[in-house]
Parts: sequence; C-alpha cells; structure tokens
Amino acid sequence: MRHGSSTTLRVLVLGGQAVGKSAVTVRFLTRRFIGEYNSTIDLVYRSAIRHDDIETDVEILDWSSHKGDNYIPADRQMNWADAFVIVYSICDRSSFYWAKMLIDLIRRMPSYLPVLVIANKRDLECHRTVDIAEGHHLALQHGCQYYEVSAADSHVSINIAFHSLLREAKLVQQHRTPSLKRRKSSLISVSKKLGAMFGKITKDNNEVEKKRGTI
Ligand code: GDP
Ligand code: MG
Repeated sequence: MRHGSSTTLRVLVLGGQAVGKSAVTVRFLTRRFIGEYNSTIDLVYRSAIRHDDIETDVEILDWSSHKGDNYIPADRQMNWADAFVIVYSICDRSSFYWAKMLIDLIRRMPSYLPVLVIANKRDLECHRTVDIAEGHHLALQHGCQYYEVSAADSHVSINIAFHSLLREAKLVQQHRTPSLKRRKSSLISVSKKLGAMFGKITKDNNEVEKKRGTI
C-alpha cells in the first residue's frame, strides 16, 4: 500500500552489515559524517530535495543491519521502492557478493527500477579487496549507476550519486504515469463506445446485470 503523494520518490537503501548504508544516507541528507549510527532499526527519512529547480518529496529507507546479512527484504518492502541504493564496502568482499545478489533480486522484479551501486570506504585503499573494475562491471552488466565514494571523507560524490539516481527515478515515474493514464482513458472511451452500441440491450437486461453484481 502506497502512502503520501503520488509524486513522492521512495528510495530503499540496502547492503551488507556495516558497509556504511547509514553513513551514506546521513551524508546525503545532512552533509555530515557522525561515525556511529543506530543499526538496530529501519529508519525512513522524509525530505524535499531540490534539483533542476524542482522540489521533489523523497523518502529514504535506511535498511537496518541487525537482521543479519542473509535477511532479504520481503516483496512488500521491495515493492515500496521507486529506486534502490545498493551499498558495499571496497574492503569487504562478502558485501560485494551480497550486493550482486540484491541487484539480481531487483532485476527479477516485473518492472525496471533505477539502481545506484555505491562502493563505499574508498578512503581505506590499503584494505581494498574489491577492484574498481569489478564494481564497474557489475553495474554495467545490470544497467545500474555506479559511484565509488567515501562517506567518511566527503559528501560530494554521494550528493552527485543520489541526485543522479533521483533524476532517473523521476523520469521512470513520469513515463509510467502517462501510460497508465492513457490506458485508463482508452478503457473509458472503449466502454463508452460499447455502452453506446449496446445501450438498448443493457437497459433491457438491467435485472440480470444487477443480480450478477450482487453475487
Ligand atoms: P551500516 O550498518 O551499513 O548502516 O553501516 P554504518 O553506516 O553504521 O557504518 C558502519 C561503520 O563503518 C561505522 O563505524 C562507520 O563509521 C564506518 N564507515 C562508514 N562509512 C565509512 C567510510 O567511508 N570510511 C570509513 N573509514 N569508515 C566508514
Ligand atoms: Mg545502518
């Protein structure tokens, strides 16, 4: 069940444990890095984000890690999202595999949704276990956006990455809405034509229609 206005963009932030999901989310929203974050609850942040001179309502769900690495979001939670941010740490290979699995899951969903892959902790280069090329390849393979960032060092790349994702999510949402409207209006016009064609018959069969409606 969707809440809020129809133009609200909902972003679900997923990834392995302690990869920096909260750090990245908070960096984008506040520009700050606080170091330690509550990891025991899912948090939804609501904000009006301005880009291209237009304000957009955005909800960002920072998925908590306490459920463990192998906890996959339920369909209901996946369906809530208009876009995904998948975070892994460049010094945690298992988090890269987990990111891959999550992206596979998203790409098996019935409609295309924008995905931003964030390779975090770039500042810990000496502990790197996932190459830039691997992250890049993963993103290319699955039609995702990809940025290497350090939530600890700077908000700049994170800001660019989120804005780019939101821009794509908005475009996807705009393309979906008119086609739904078109389908709806064409259904109305078809039913009007059928109504005009069978108007007399429908009047004659009113009793039957009413009975059917009550079954
Ligand atoms: P989450 O469990 O994925 O939400 O991860 P957190 O955002 O809570 O971060 C886990 C730990 O990694 C915390 O101690 C953060 O301070 C640290 N951390 C997050 N981002 C970075 C980063 O870019 N560089 C470094 N060095 N540490 C980071
Ligand atoms: Mg967290």
